[in-house]
Amino acid sequence: MSTLLEVRNLKKHYPIKKGLFSKQVGAVRAVDGVTLTVQKGETLAIVGESGCGKSTTGRAILRLIEPTDGEIIFNGTDVRSLNLEQLRKFRTDMQMVFQDPFASLDPRWTVQQVLEEPLITHENVSKTELKQRVDQLLEVVGLSSYHAGRYPHEFSGGQRQRIGIARALALNPKFIVCDEPVSALDVSIQAQVLNLMKDLQEQYDLTYMFISHDLSVVKFISDRVGVMYLGKLVELAPTKEIFQEPLHPYTKALMSAVPVADPEADLQRIVLKGDVPSPENPPKGCAFHNRCPAAMDICSKIQPVFAEAARGRQVACHLYPTSKPE
Ligand code: SF4
Ligand code: MG
Repeated sequence: MSTLLEVRNLKKHYPIKKGLFSKQVGAVRAVDGVTLTVQKGETLAIVGESGCGKSTTGRAILRLIEPTDGEIIFNGTDVRSLNLEQLRKFRTDMQMVFQDPFASLDPRWTVQQVLEEPLITHENVSKTELKQRVDQLLEVVGLSSYHAGRYPHEFSGGQRQRIGIARALALNPKFIVCDEPVSALDVSIQAQVLNLMKDLQEQYDLTYMFISHDLSVVKFISDRVGVMYLGKLVELAPTKEIFQEPLHPYTKALMSAVPVADPEADLQRIVLKGDVPSPENPPKGCAFHNRCPAAMDICSKIQPVFAEAARGRQVACHLYPTSKPE
C-alpha cells in the first residue's frame, strides 16, 4: 500500500475576541496537532464524542475551512500551498459526503441539477453528455434516470444519501471524507448505504476518511481507526486490534460502551466521570487526566507524545514509554 495523504501537526484554532476593539483573549483549539497518514484504498475512521474536532479535521484537510497550522500532503501535492484556482481544480480529487447532503442545497433544484452542477463547473460537457453522465451516476448508486427530474423532498433519507454519494463521485475523485454519512438513517438503511460505499470503494479505487461517533458502524466499514479527544488523536490502530485490545484509557472507555460486545474482547463497561473539558481551556499535561481512571502524577504535568507503542499502533499516553517526551 502506498500513502495517499499525509497530515502533519494540523491545527484549527478559532480566536476568541472580546471588548470594543475585539482583542483576542484566547482560542478554541478545535483541532490541536493532528498527525496521520491515509493509505491508498483504505478506510480510515475518525471517532470521538461530538466536539472532539473530528469534523473540523476532515474539513480542514479539504481546506473547506482554512487550517491554522500544519502540513497536508495529498498525492505529493502540498495542499496548503495551492491558491484558490489551483485548489478548485484540486478539489475534483478530494470530495466530501455530508450527513444530509440536501440540507445545504436549494430545495428547488432537481436531482439532475444537483448532479450536473459539479460537471458544469469543472468540465466542458455537452447537454447530451450531461444527461448521460447524470444517468450513469444515478445507476452507480442504485437509483435510475427516472429519479433525475425529482426534487429532494421526494426522496427518503437513504435515497438522499445515495444522491449525496453520486454527487461526490461526479468528478471521479480519489479521496472522500465522509462525515457521519449514515448517522441520520435508520439502522436497516445504514447497512445498505455502507455496503454501497464499500462496493464503490472497490470499483473505483476510492480512499475514505470516515468520520463517525458510532463504533458499530466504524467496526464494519474501516480498516484503521483514529480516536480523537479534545482536538487531538489519542490512539490510532488497525480496526480489529483496537476493538480487541484498546490501549488508551479513553479508547477503552469508548469501546466498553459498544452495545454489540465482541465475544473475543473482555471489556468491563467503564463509565467516565465528568464531562469533556472546554477546548478553549484544555487541561495541562494529558487533556484526559481529570477523567482518566489510570491517571498518574505525571499526567497532569506533562503532555504525552503521540507515538508508535506497538507495530502499526500509535498512542498518546504515559502508560506507554514511547509517549515520554524527549
Ligand atoms: Fe490517563 Fe495519564 Fe494516559 Fe492520560 S497519560 S490517558 S491521564 S494514564
Ligand atoms: Mg461533527
